[in-house]
Amino acid sequence: MGDFSLDLNDDQLELQKWVHAFSRDVIRPVAAEYDEKEETPWPVIEEAANIGLYSVDFVTNAFVDPTGITFPMISEELSWGDAGIALAIMGTTLGVSGIVGNGTPEQIAEWVPECFGTPGDIHLGAFAVSEPDAGSDVSSLRTRAVYDQATDEWVINGTKTWITNGGIDKVPTVHVVVAAVEPELKSRGHASFVVPPGTPGCRQGQKFSKMGIRASHTAEVVFEDCRVPGHCLLGGKEKLDERLARAREGKSSRVQAAMSTFEASRPLVGAQALGIARAAYEYALDYAKERTAFNRPIIMNQAIAFKLADMKMQIDAARLLVWRATWMAAAKKQFVSGEGSMSKLYAGEVAVRVTDEAIQILGGAGYVKDHPVEQWHRDSKIYTIFEGTSEIQRLVIARAISGLHIP
Ligand SMILES: Cc1cc2nc3c(=O)[nH]c(=O)nc-3n(C[C@H](O)[C@H](O)[C@H](O)COP(=O)(O)OP(=O)(O)OC[C@H]3O[C@@H](n4cnc5c(N)ncnc54)[C@H](O)[C@@H]3O)c2cc1C
Repeated sequence: MGDFSLDLNDDQLELQKWVHAFSRDVIRPVAAEYDEKEETPWPVIEEAANIGLYSVDFVTNAFVDPTGITFPMISEELSWGDAGIALAIMGTTLGVSGIVGNGTPEQIAEWVPECFGTPGDIHLGAFAVSEPDAGSDVSSLRTRAVYDQATDEWVINGTKTWITNGGIDKVPTVHVVVAAVEPELKSRGHASFVVPPGTPGCRQGQKFSKMGIRASHTAEVVFEDCRVPGHCLLGGKEKLDERLARAREGKSSRVQAAMSTFEASRPLVGAQALGIARAAYEYALDYAKERTAFNRPIIMNQAIAFKLADMKMQIDAARLLVWRATWMAAAKKQFVSGEGSMSKLYAGEVAVRVTDEAIQILGGAGYVKDHPVEQWHRDSKIYTIFEGTSEIQRLVIARAISGLHIP
């Protein structure tokens, strides 16, 4: 047991410092501006690409770290700067997770670099599952993919909604789309497809105006007779046919297309929530030491000091759950008790609580835009909703620990 350690190694510490400096010097100064404008922060993404932070190499190195801790550490640091801008930079990794979770090695080698492009030619990735009538209930999705044998193409029709980076045509965007190939089989009849940038029949629908993470683009993506080559089916046709045959016979199969992606990405989403919570905690701690009322700093009241103690404890506990989940994933250990869901669920709820308490500690100053905590509270709320709501995470955990298919 001598090797066990929760210390970051020298490489990780150096990387953390580097990402923190980017967050502090490049992201934070423009955070309020992009929250107000609700626009994609292209200059920040360009700067991230120029220094190699937005690149296939950077993300690959972070993914393959054997401790599993590098990626959540980076996500936390970026979100500490601003969660919306962090998602504008890292949202591409959702599409990447869809490719890595479902693709063959050849498809991964072809499409993952295509999601990032190069500093002079930035690309984006998006992962499109949710639909107007299929959010939590992914099994009800209606987007169809039909195989056209004559041309060896898949024809996709349907509308996806709430898609991060969805339908942006300013830069080439790789969409990874989950569609029904055999709707009678519900989620076991789903498959994932890459829709290459510029494919006719794929366009942006409504762009949503949001409460928080407003620098991150969220929109509908509409597919109208959108034809993609046969090789864009992730995992390949042979595997799909085998899987469908097993499902038709009622035999067990590998996890569903969308679910395998969410399992991998949930702890990283939890790490983003952690970044917001830490930012709010640090801000509130400084404020509580400086602000005086009744001739003493407000932190000298236990009512305030204990809030800060709870905030710090919950943030640290959330980080341990996130790191455990990413360590398990890196060590190829199965999530037997919904550990990925636990980490995202807890970190998301901690972010909402901590940012709420930060506003309380700042009093009136917390409620106005002169201080960033009101924005952080708005930003935090999405972490109990996307990548599976808190209720759905509890369902995943309850099913895992009970072995029962709790409805
Ligand atoms: C900003 C933003 C970005 C997003 N990015 C993406 C993206 O990139 N790709 C993508 O595919 N999707 C994305 N989503 C969609 C997101 O994942 C869904 O909004 C989420 O899964 C919830 O689905 P829903 O909104 O349809 O809620 P619903 O499924 O309608 O749920 C409504 C409420 O009912 C509860 N509920 C539903 N079923 C149950 C149950 N069985 N037990 C208990 N409670 C239940 C839910 O927890 C929730 O509280 C994004 C959403 C937002 C807002």
